[in-house]
Amino acid sequence: MDKKILTIVVPCYNEQESLPLFYQAIIDLEKEGKLNPVDLEFVFVDDGSRDNTLGVFRELSAKDDRVHYVSFSRNFGKEAGIYAGLEKSKGDYVVIMDADLQDPPAMLPEMLSYIESGEYECVATRRVDRKGEPPIRSWFARKFYRLMNKISNADIVDGARDYQMMTRKVVDAILSMKEYNRFSKGIFGWVGFKRKWLEFENVERVAGETKWSFWKLFIYAIDGIVAFSTTPLIMASIFGLIMCLVAFVFIIVIIVRTLIFGDPTSGWPSMVCIILLVSGIQLLCMGILGEYLAKAYLETKNRPKYLVQEER
Ligand code: UDP
Ligand code: MG
Repeated sequence: MDKKILTIVVPCYNEQESLPLFYQAIIDLEKEGKLNPVDLEFVFVDDGSRDNTLGVFRELSAKDDRVHYVSFSRNFGKEAGIYAGLEKSKGDYVVIMDADLQDPPAMLPEMLSYIESGEYECVATRRVDRKGEPPIRSWFARKFYRLMNKISNADIVDGARDYQMMTRKVVDAILSMKEYNRFSKGIFGWVGFKRKWLEFENVERVAGETKWSFWKLFIYAIDGIVAFSTTPLIMASIFGLIMCLVAFVFIIVIIVRTLIFGDPTSGWPSMVCIILLVSGIQLLCMGILGEYLAKAYLETKNRPKYLVQEER
């Protein structure tokens, strides 16, 4: 019987130092016979790196013809990288991994055994701690996951990584979601399928540095919410409703007060406060609306998710 093929998809952005270490780690694992049930295929995606990542790809693919790569014309973001990698993958199983060895390759054999058992279509991983990360970032991350699960129907697990192995069925499902604003964590949760969760402790990256600033993560979180939930829009309506009710009560109070006590002209400061509050809420709601409109606008343009400069 033919061996199944496992494709390892690796989105890379400025990873010239970590990439050779990553590749070696996988090869070591293979030499130890831990990946025996499958043949390997590598799909590296260069997300418009400014360093020699592409050069490393070329070298690796020259000496190992199981190495394929795609190089983007510019930085399109990790989500686009994952999409391109999945599109190019030919394996029966596919696993997505970071190049910095923060997704421990040692877990591959276990993931493989769950997939091979045929009981699960997908084996996903989550970090149980956030060691080595600024506490304020962890706090925001935890709050984000809590909120996200409340307001969306994509089941998003706290600490979930993009590190997951899946069958072709799941890959096709993910590829069938053609949206431009791609929030992978949401997409993986949204497609469903029977999933096994494995846990591991946070590992720090081997070389290079993280590409995520706090601000970038914040934008990412907002994108995620807009992509998978319309609850903010409902909240805007509820805000409006509450303001109307409050105004109604005020009107009654003022009419009654005027009838009983006459009409002393005062209340200028309170008027200013009310105007500021209400216009603030209006702007906020318009902002929320605009956010959705902007996303809808981008989707209708139907632009390619990435542009390829070189591939093999
Ligand atoms: N990455 C990418 N495009 C980007 C940013 C990151 O392809 O615009 C890749 C990066 O090379 C790495 C993975 O995504 O393989 C995770 O990035 P990083 O390690 O910086 O994120 P962290 O682990 O700190 O969340
Ligand atoms: Mg990392």
